[in-house]
Amino acid sequence: MSQILAEPIARLIEEFGKLPGVGPKTAQRLTFYLLRRPAEEAHALAQAIVDVKEQIIFCHVCFNLSATDPCQFCADTNRDHTRICVVEEPLDILALDRTGSYKGVYHVLHGSFSPMEGVLEDDLKIRELAERVGQGGVQEVILATNATVEGEATANLVKMRLQDSGVHVTRLAQGLPIGSDLEYADDYTLSRALEGRRDY
Ligand SMILES: [Zn+2]
Repeated sequence: MSQILAEPIARLIEEFGKLPGVGPKTAQRLTFYLLRRPAEEAHALAQAIVDVKEQIIFCHVCFNLSATDPCQFCADTNRDHTRICVVEEPLDILALDRTGSYKGVYHVLHGSFSPMEGVLEDDLKIRELAERVGQGGVQEVILATNATVEGEATANLVKMRLQDSGVHVTRLAQGLPIGSDLEYADDYTLSRALEGRRDY
């Protein structure tokens, strides 16, 4: 293909093709779509990609992705800072927060415990969570990891690491579809799962 297509076109198709869920056909379609659009649109897209890499940082408290440190949740004094909801990914915060039924703060692990896929305990922000809880003032840690085998293993691991802290550990109620990712759950199911959380 690279012999037939001009080099910049081939290069953009190749870059698009590296994105998750984008096959060669889609990569070609996106590239030719952009070629037909005004230059400003392409610039806006390129700038947005650069900005997200340059301006988004980790919140040093909860490891959420944010433009500010601390993030909007950790900086919000109206939220209940005695309750920490532990999630796998930043997108899970979006899902939980739009339910409106949770007013505490969050902690992002950035993945789930999965030795088969090379994700070990140290790759997750578990030690950071234990340190955060160790600083005191936290009454409840809500484990909101996914209802998958990895999510369950992660919840177990976090609970073990918090055992000596004396903090109350709860887990989202069942009712979330087994094997599902939190971010795809509907608001009603998530609200119910939060309200019905149980000791863990
Ligand atoms: Zn934060």
